[in-house]
Parts: sequence; C-alpha cells; structure tokens
Amino acid sequence: MNIENIYKEAGALLDGHFILSSGNHSNRYLQSAKVLEDTGRAEVLAFGLAKEIMQSGIEVDTICAPALGGILAGYELARALNLRSIFVERKEGVMQLRRGFEVAKGEKFIICEDIITTGGSAMEAAKAIEALGGEVVGFASLANRGFCKRDGSSKAPKPECKLPNDKPLFALDDFEFEMYSPDECPMCKEGSEAIKPGSRT
Ligand code: ZN
Repeated sequence: MNIENIYKEAGALLDGHFILSSGNHSNRYLQSAKVLEDTGRAEVLAFGLAKEIMQSGIEVDTICAPALGGILAGYELARALNLRSIFVERKEGVMQLRRGFEVAKGEKFIICEDIITTGGSAMEAAKAIEALGGEVVGFASLANRGFCKRDGSSKAPKPECKLPNDKPLFALDDFEFEMYSPDECPMCKEGSEAIKPGSRT
C-alpha cells in the first residue's frame, strides 16, 4: 500500500508554500481530514493500520480518539479491529470523557489519531483514560509527522515527541517535511507568499 499516493490522490497532501501551526514554513502540507472524506479510502487505510496492530500481538479492548481530528480515524480503526470506539474531548481546556462513555478498570486502550505530530493531544487523551482506571497500551495514527518513532521504524524519536518510549506508536507512514523558520525560508527568499491552510480552509 503506497500511503503517500493515497494521500495525494485524496488531495490531502499538498505541494506549495505553507505556514505550519508552529509558525515555520514548509513546501508540503497534510490536510489529513481530506483523506477520510472518501469512506472507501478510509476503510482501506484503517484496515492497513488494524493489520499492523494485529500482527504486533498487542491486546486491546477499546479504541479512544481525541476529538475532533481523531474521531473518524479512531472509529474506522475500531471497526476494522471489531472493537469498541469512544472519544474524549476538551471541555474548558481539559480533555475528558463525556456523553455517557465509560471506562472499566484495567480496560486496555489504544489512543488513535488521524495524524501524530508531537503527540500532545494523544497524551492528553491517554491521561484522561488512565485517570478513569483504563490502561493505555499503545498509540495509533494513520500518518506520523516523524517527530515520534513509528513501530517498526529504525528512526529515533525527536526531542519534541511527547509520547512515551515504552509504548508502541502504530502508523501507516512517516510524512517528514522540510521546515524552515520564516527568515530562513528559501521560498520566501524567492519572493513567494506563504499561505496558512490550517483547519479554516
Ligand atoms: Zn516561506
């Protein structure tokens, strides 16, 4: 499965001159929600990710996603693994379980995102689940931005990664892009104007 091509075909992997949420500039951008708007494509990706999780032999009861970005990926992954699917969401800045969802003591969770950058939201979700007595056994994401170490990859995690080293991160592919500070950006030097895609476009 060529993940990069699947993202490109979906219009989810953009080439251009972009301002990332960090403020840095890049010539590529992942609009990761776009890859899931085609339900057939979402299913193919989720089954690919499910296969990696099954092959690892890890025991999982439930998939939990941090809202909003992770919900569709988490739901599709849970469906592919025939597991329960829940999500946590931020209320007054704190990630928490709402809507009648429950966590059993010792229930084993994988936290699933559509994309893992530094893993900040995934860690907040993990803390919310653990505070309720659940056990987080791993993390999963369709795409990994290359800050955290993907299970099976020999690349070391970067200091920015917030995920724990002792739990696996299952992801379909690493999407590592060139990043430049605005004063050192070669595209800016050539006179092109950077755009901010973000969630608003
Ligand atoms: Zn630039």
